[in-house]
Amino acid sequence: MKKILGILIISSIISCSSKSDIKNSNYLNNRDPLIQKEYIELPLGQIQPQGWLKMMLEAQQDGSTGQLDQLYPLVMGERNGWLGGDGDQWERGPYWIDGLLPLAYILEDEELIAKTKPWIEWMISSQREDGYFGPQQDYENNEPGLQRDNSGDWWPKMVALKVLKQYYSATNDERVPTLMLNYFRYQYEQLPKTPLDNWTFWARYRGGDNLMMVYWLYNITGENFLLDLAEIIHHQTEDFTGDFLNRARLSQKGSIHCVNLAQGFKEPIIYYQQAKDKKYIDAVKTGLKDLKTFNGFPNGMYGGDEALHGDNPTQGIEFCSIVEFMFSLENMLQITGENDFAELLERIAFNALPTQATDDFMNRQYFQQVNQVKISKHIRNFDINHHGLDNCFGLLNGYPCCTSNMHQGWPKFIQNLWYATPDNGLAAIVYGPSKVNALVADSIEVSLAEYTNYPFENTIEILVEDIAEACSFPLYLRIPTWSENFSLEINGKVAEIKKDESNNLIIYRLWNKDDRVIIRFEAKIGISRWYENAATVERGALIYALKMNENWSVVRNNETIKSQGETYYEVDSDSPWNYALIDVPENKIQDHYLVKVNVNHDLYPWNIENSPIEITTKAKRLPYWTMYNDMAGPMPYSIKWGNEVSPDDEEITLIPYGCTTLRITEFPLIGEHKVN
Ligand SMILES: [Zn+2]
Repeated sequence: MKKILGILIISSIISCSSKSDIKNSNYLNNRDPLIQKEYIELPLGQIQPQGWLKMMLEAQQDGSTGQLDQLYPLVMGERNGWLGGDGDQWERGPYWIDGLLPLAYILEDEELIAKTKPWIEWMISSQREDGYFGPQQDYENNEPGLQRDNSGDWWPKMVALKVLKQYYSATNDERVPTLMLNYFRYQYEQLPKTPLDNWTFWARYRGGDNLMMVYWLYNITGENFLLDLAEIIHHQTEDFTGDFLNRARLSQKGSIHCVNLAQGFKEPIIYYQQAKDKKYIDAVKTGLKDLKTFNGFPNGMYGGDEALHGDNPTQGIEFCSIVEFMFSLENMLQITGENDFAELLERIAFNALPTQATDDFMNRQYFQQVNQVKISKHIRNFDINHHGLDNCFGLLNGYPCCTSNMHQGWPKFIQNLWYATPDNGLAAIVYGPSKVNALVADSIEVSLAEYTNYPFENTIEILVEDIAEACSFPLYLRIPTWSENFSLEINGKVAEIKKDESNNLIIYRLWNKDDRVIIRFEAKIGISRWYENAATVERGALIYALKMNENWSVVRNNETIKSQGETYYEVDSDSPWNYALIDVPENKIQDHYLVKVNVNHDLYPWNIENSPIEITTKAKRLPYWTMYNDMAGPMPYSIKWGNEVSPDDEEITLIPYGCTTLRITEFPLIGEHKVN
């Protein structure tokens, strides 16, 4: 079995606190007076992806994540300020390592671990006597394409703290808590004089990232000033609690930057750990509801290109907002145990995330669209444009924050497939093919395998591959809200269903090697309603979009916009896209859509060639729904009665949204639904 790091962590805290503070005796939960988290993250490296999820990390390993220093040398090379150089000093270097480091340790890739080392070592060695760390040189030269943080901006340090926390999780390097303690003492001194928004508004909106690291260190050290610092940071951060409870902001286009919002969503719940007032959780739930109502898309994301921009399915979704929203949901889930956050996390990870990068993880879009029928150099109706290249695939087109930040999505999602629970058990609350090594009960090592093709198939099989000795512990498994029926089998026999208060299955038993649990969730076709009453086909954790032919062509950038990369890709199609779905009564929906599942375990699943699921149905062309501004034109409203139905029905094929590049996802609905 792999070396288990949990014991090392516990031994370092026993010296400064009594063990009765901590309910889980194997892993560190919050220290008093903070609330206990519902789920505890396991040390980095204890969860290994399998199956298709492993393919995602391998694509990143061979793709841009593994070689961004060579692909983007101006910023990620040795001139980077976070390596002591005279180059970029801002967020981009730490962003890359925030994804590369967990990827490298999860895959145990020594070469990639070695790439992270100079960054870690420089971060640690850069710390001044007064506690400041990070780049601090002033430059006169302002070379295009570089971001200089010669101002002391608090923001890029927040990303570096996230990197260091993960590095500590993988290695237990004691220099990390020491650095953070010194830095937080510096912040405690300086923030009253130079608050979070002293230099940029980014730090004020993203203070929740700073706050979560203060609590993390408090749990290790128990230093009381950290709780006072936490209050200072919370009060200097944008008042997201007020923004969500007042309900005005999320209904206004342009009212907030999409990435600030994605990161800010977690702040009220991060602070809830200390404030213990349920209003912070209620605020986030209200905010999520309003976000969906006014800006929501069926892939779990929202219109924000870069400012918040409503729910028209041709508005953009920035890659950074996807990975940051996922990170917020992961942290909110750990603290509260609320399954709504798990469901939204899966919806984004299994729909929006796979489609914004190419299969080889070498190119990405700055903005993706839910109804996306053409990818071309063209100025669309986005809040911002970069030479019209914002929905093209490339490495640097749009703005390079996403080039640097997109790497954290999959590795952190994998870190959240398994949690320790306060009662010394384990929980699988979001699903995916994986293996976990962990300590349960009274420090007993156990190794579980989760065999599944979820979300393409909805059977989850959990096998006890190894256990140091037979022991009792609880295993928690989420029941998705879309699964009306499910069955549970333990060692070949139908088992009694027991649930906890979050509606999770709880299996508490004496576990032995080779014990096997199988749950079969039932997924049915569902129709959800969106912009202008449009319809999206859903089934299980996946949403479906029109399958279209894709013609990819590479275009060389001209000299004047070399900051947008050497080349980019356009994608066009000869497939018609202006279809309406046919509105059928609720009791006929299952027969109206024919589902074919054909999973090939050896193939990368997220493209039109390998799509593991196809749904065929009847649809009608709407000749008046045409192209506008290189996009699907204004969405016909889905009226319930009186639509002209012509020409004849055609059969169309829908595939998982994440498999498409060109697509219609929100369809008008047309006619036929008559009163009997
Ligand atoms: Zn970005």
